[in-house]
Amino acid sequence: MKFVPPVLFLLFGFALAGLWALERKLRFALTLAAGFGTLSLAMFSQFGGWPPDIGRNAVISGTLYVLGALLVGEGILQRSGRRFPSVVAVAYIVAVAGGLWYFFYVDRSLIARIYILNFGMALVLLHACWLARHLTAGTRTDKALFYLLLICGLHFLPRTLISIRSAVGVTTPEQFGQTEFWQSLMLTTTLLGAAAGLCLLGILVVDVVSKLRQERDLDPLTGVLNRRGLDRYTKRGEEPSPGLIRVAAICDLDKFKAINDSFGHDIGDAVLTQFAEIIRQNMRSGDVLARTGGEEFALVLEDITEEQALALAERVRSAVEAANFPGLGRGRVTCSFGLARILPGEAFWASLKRADKALYEAKGAGRNRIRAEWQRGAVGAQASAHRP
Ligand code: GH3
Ligand code: MG
Ligand code: MG
Repeated sequence: MKFVPPVLFLLFGFALAGLWALERKLRFALTLAAGFGTLSLAMFSQFGGWPPDIGRNAVISGTLYVLGALLVGEGILQRSGRRFPSVVAVAYIVAVAGGLWYFFYVDRSLIARIYILNFGMALVLLHACWLARHLTAGTRTDKALFYLLLICGLHFLPRTLISIRSAVGVTTPEQFGQTEFWQSLMLTTTLLGAAAGLCLLGILVVDVVSKLRQERDLDPLTGVLNRRGLDRYTKRGEEPSPGLIRVAAICDLDKFKAINDSFGHDIGDAVLTQFAEIIRQNMRSGDVLARTGGEEFALVLEDITEEQALALAERVRSAVEAANFPGLGRGRVTCSFGLARILPGEAFWASLKRADKALYEAKGAGRNRIRAEWQRGAVGAQASAHRP
């Protein structure tokens, strides 16, 4: 029975490592796996009496416990790009290992060793909790992770305080195994360990799925949405606010094939990435950008006027024209735009088709210009207004 908790922790360690193997970008899963593995080792050492020498066992298993708790805290922090300060981590390990050593070899006291280890574990986990306090303002998964860590950290305090009296006067490991302190430790470690492991696995599955979903919907070269991502967005079918419209815009690099032919595909890719970045910088925060073809990008402009949509396109057009594209020497890059209204109840892709027609006209009229479907008739004036 005593090996149930370490085996459980070991299994969770393997499961976490397995999830990391599935999605290697989630490095924190590996740190968590290492944390669970180390905690399992600590338990095997303590429960199994290895090494058999009580003093050495206390120091080694205690050090492993603190290291395991630090790795779990570090893993949770890593998930949101933060770190447990390594100097503080080393200080915790030295303090607990040193304390355990002192209270065995210099001033032997089981009670002191129990306090040092349990309060040390609580301190490490609560410190990690403090560093991860931003999670309380995050998603439901973030909050779950935070409170899980908090409960794990806090539980050491009342459990130790309530049951420590049962360890007073204990001299042999056999006696210690019968104490209320030990029994309650086994129970909470098993229950809390299982709950924590299951929660972490659940959270990780959510993370893996959202990462895979993100990758499915994003264009790997430019980082903007791909066709599929755009399709998912436009299926929401938002209605514009009163007095405003929705606009579908399509923008396409001019003579891009010539850039590829003259400078190579890699430079072409760099131009595409910079082009996407220029559009991103010039759109409003709620606008949606997607790469719908080789050098063709689509924009969904919610709650906008015709004039604002034209002005936005013009900002991008002039920024691309003025930009310096590394690798092209003195060569300039230009782009053309086609704009169309997204009519109420109309599928986005139908509006985009009309925007594409406007783009075709812009190309036919000499490129480096903007055409909106609603400008027909005033096309000449518009075209010249948007030509340098
Ligand atoms: P236009 O002004 O009429 O748009 O002419 P264009 O040359 O830009 O248009 P065309 O459709 O003839 O050529 C598009 C080129 O885009 C052809 C293809 O080699 C290139 N392309 C498509 N996808 C990629 C990509 O991912 N990377 C690079 N470097 N080039 C790409
Ligand atoms: Mg083109
Ligand atoms: Mg094209």
